[in-house]
Amino acid sequence: MIKNPVVCKFGGSSMADAGQFRKVRDIVLANPERAAVVVSAPGKRDKSDTKLTDLLYAVHETASRGLDFSEPFGMISDRYLSIAKELGLKTDIGSDLEKIREKILADGKNLNVSWVVSRGEFLCARLMAEFLGWDFVDAFDIVEINSSHRVSAEGYAAIAAALSKRERVVVPGFYARNALGELETFSRGGSDITGAILANALDARVYENWTDVSGLLMADPRVVDDPRPMPYVSYREIRELSYSGANVLHDESIAPCKAKGIPINIRNTNRPQDDGTVIGPHRKDVPHALVTGIAGRKNFSMIYIDKDMMNKERGFGARAMGILEGFGIPFEHAPTGIDSMSIIVDTAHLKPAQAEVIDAIERQLQPDKVRVFDEIALVATVGHGMTGQVGVAAKLFGALAAENVSVRVIDQGSSEINIIVGVDDADYDRAIRAIYGAFVGA
Ligand code: ASP
Repeated sequence: MIKNPVVCKFGGSSMADAGQFRKVRDIVLANPERAAVVVSAPGKRDKSDTKLTDLLYAVHETASRGLDFSEPFGMISDRYLSIAKELGLKTDIGSDLEKIREKILADGKNLNVSWVVSRGEFLCARLMAEFLGWDFVDAFDIVEINSSHRVSAEGYAAIAAALSKRERVVVPGFYARNALGELETFSRGGSDITGAILANALDARVYENWTDVSGLLMADPRVVDDPRPMPYVSYREIRELSYSGANVLHDESIAPCKAKGIPINIRNTNRPQDDGTVIGPHRKDVPHALVTGIAGRKNFSMIYIDKDMMNKERGFGARAMGILEGFGIPFEHAPTGIDSMSIIVDTAHLKPAQAEVIDAIERQLQPDKVRVFDEIALVATVGHGMTGQVGVAAKLFGALAAENVSVRVIDQGSSEINIIVGVDDADYDRAIRAIYGAFVGA
């Protein structure tokens, strides 16, 4: 393996059919530094199509109840066989499929769901390896994860050692070997994580994440017309922008790259000429636009707690948080006043237990008032460029006021790289457009 290779990960839409396989090969072979390729299972060919991974979940669901799984399994077989046939591949994918079918039948109720769904990536990588003429290396054999899906320093070294003897490799994404020696999948979209792990282990010059969009945009295109692309965004900023829900990249794939300062380049398999977005270390030496991006999400609830002399009561905040923790409810933000605190949580997390939560707050904290406000949207305006700049908040709130958007809560991280405002769900689109207009322009 060359030193500091480019590690590439291709997502499901990039592997959807033989035509996409050809695009991937052209991309990979266009740069000899691209020496390690991670693939997802074939995704949707069009809107009405089904992802291979979803079909495999259906197979597991049916087979583990002892029912006939031949329909989804047949669809899976057809997809792989047609890719292999169209590309003239010799890999005996038919007998691989047959072995998988037999194991599913034999395991019955004890079927390991991770193993079944991992076969999507496994078979796809086998085909891609032959198509490129590269070595197939099974992620199960080289990637060992702990219970929080992390790889230890020794684990990274073992991956590097295993791959050092190989020139060019194709590795299936989405799964690894856990500490018990079992196959375990990551959460959905987890091939991104496999790519990031390999990038770290191989000290990649860059981790290219190939998908079906030309990078990230400064705002949601469903809200803002034709938003500008984000050419560069720091690891920190991308975390702050995680409300965007754009889910182009699995959030757990950032840490392995961040640990070594490896840039992640989001690229478009269907438009390889586009530069895409680079996610990398914060660069102090280059000038930054004031705002890097604006993201948000609706459907939060705000638990407002009011109590005289709250600031003198030791452990009040901790107890309030402890109550939420007891119900397994994570919190997003908790802006406080001298005698009040607001805890913002995802409405979907709160609703099932709301009555009990309020009851516990009343009993344990004895507040003067506690109320829940629903239909709150959070909007995060993010950028290293805002740090230390005078007038940023004035500009932002001025823009909201001009649009008659009432601000329900404000939270600015002490890092000053974000300002988060809570507005009514109904004002969400207008708030984002107003902020975008003020900082980026029409
Ligand atoms: N195929 C898996 C999924 O659909 C993993 C991935 O695509 O990254 O979630």
